[in-house]
Amino acid sequence: MSDARDAVCNVCPRHCRIAEGGTGFCRARRAEGGRVVAGNYGRITSLALDPMEKKPLAFFRPGSCILSVGSYGCNLRCPFCQNDAISQRGEGEVGCRTAAPAELADLAERLGRERGNVGLAYTYNEPLVGWEFVRDCAVEIRRRGMCNVLVSNGCAEAEVVEELAPLIDAANIDLKGPSQEFYDWVGGSFAAVCRSIEILHRAGCHVEVTMLVIPGRNDSDEAVDAVASLVASVSPEIPLHVTRFFPRFQMADADPTPVATIHRLVGRAGRVLSRVLPGNC
Ligand code: SF4
Repeated sequence: MSDARDAVCNVCPRHCRIAEGGTGFCRARRAEGGRVVAGNYGRITSLALDPMEKKPLAFFRPGSCILSVGSYGCNLRCPFCQNDAISQRGEGEVGCRTAAPAELADLAERLGRERGNVGLAYTYNEPLVGWEFVRDCAVEIRRRGMCNVLVSNGCAEAEVVEELAPLIDAANIDLKGPSQEFYDWVGGSFAAVCRSIEILHRAGCHVEVTMLVIPGRNDSDEAVDAVASLVASVSPEIPLHVTRFFPRFQMADADPTPVATIHRLVGRAGRVLSRVLPGNC
């Protein structure tokens, strides 16, 4: 039962009503003092120096590596989640340490000197459910002359994406399927994801898109044609990663995507996009 005193979160299209002390659907945001705050602010579950290609970004600083940070929580419930150990968890359910934005930026800078790190990537769980931390880190990273990379499901309200976009140098956004019907299955808004891709591209951010191909769900010619057309409507130059699924989370018994399927779909997407890459093959 909702109460008039509940706080409403406007970060993503779910617009959760949250009772004081409670958490939203993503388990990352909570109501505190009558407003919604990022409960996962500065709570770090994963920190690693990754190749840029692992984000995946194939055409942004190729051959470089980037310090990659993740917290917990996600606003989607993809049954095929490839990172559920942190994305589908809340506070106290996964090991965390706390770090301030300046501390992470200092680490990124030191790793730049020592190991060629080029910046900081916000990834692993869904970064936009804790977008304030992304913003604050991104400001510190820019001050140090380094770059910011966002790896996201893109399912957020326009105001959030618009505020972050000028701080983000490159992004990989999942476009998980071709329709709202597909997004009903994962609990998201197809229109919001498409809008995020457009906002980031228009802001001058280097954008790449990933489509994870799930057998029987989005592996048809029609599905990839629709995704590729959508991306092409923003720009035919945007790279699309057509990526194999491996059995995980609630789909642990499913078969991995056949490699031949990926190559077939890469060929189809290449009809309207100039840069289409197979992933996980
Ligand atoms: S970001 Fe989290 S709390 Fe906010 S509306 Fe989305 S799911 Fe709900």
